[in-house]
Amino acid sequence: MNLMVFGAPGAGKGTQAKFLVEKYNIPQISTGDMLRAAIVDKTAMGMEAKKFMDAGELVPDSTIIGIIKDRLDKEDCQNGFILDGFPRTLAQAEALEDLMSKSGKKLDFVLSFDVPDELIIQRIAGRRVCPKCGASYHVVFNPSKKEGICDACGDNLIIRKDDNADTVKNRLQNYHNQTAPLIDFYKNMGVFAQIDGSQELSKVTKDMFEVLG
Ligand code: ADP
Ligand code: AMP
Repeated sequence: MNLMVFGAPGAGKGTQAKFLVEKYNIPQISTGDMLRAAIVDKTAMGMEAKKFMDAGELVPDSTIIGIIKDRLDKEDCQNGFILDGFPRTLAQAEALEDLMSKSGKKLDFVLSFDVPDELIIQRIAGRRVCPKCGASYHVVFNPSKKEGICDACGDNLIIRKDDNADTVKNRLQNYHNQTAPLIDFYKNMGVFAQIDGSQELSKVTKDMFEVLG
């Protein structure tokens, strides 16, 4: 199964992707997580990407397409994968089609979580993430069992550097201008499924698995 979770930053893509990983035993491929790992490792690519990420801008297509190409070639992706946070531009979507068609693969579903901007702002303001395993919590909507500690791996939760009010506005604007147009791209491919992502977490998960059948 080749899946994509789609939506604005903070729509709940990463949160729902974890349930897909568990159910289908296929990897979650989050370009955001990969870029953050490159920043921790202080690679040249990571240092370059950091400037864009801290400002809430998209990292250039050539960088992103390069890291996705390498990742999809890996053994663990051969039985399927969950794309999370990629593609975010038409050029990225076209590059993905090109990569997948060359290896005889196709996308099964684009699971799109629709959430109004006002709610996105609240979700991002209260988000806490685990730097080790990437799990995402919310101080009110989805708190960890022990405050500040990841339920999954016990690491200390952090606030992402780009989860601040100024950057969020920019990220939402970039989503509407550059990423939302992909909705028509995937509708035309017949793989697009819209899910009301504003509902409580477990209801979103239920609707997602109903789409998947
Ligand atoms: P994305 O991966 O799309 O950027 P996340 O999965 O990190 O988004 O979710 C953003 C924030 O919203 C997190 O704090 C998460 O705990 C919270 N969240 C996710 N889904 C829901 C939901 N259905 N209802 C309320 N809060 C949610
Ligand atoms: P995310 O974790 O998906 O919210 O991504 C965090 C940041 O990483 C984004 O605001 C961008 O700066 C960058 N990023 C992640 N994925 C992409 C992508 N596919 N294209 C461009 N920039 C990306």
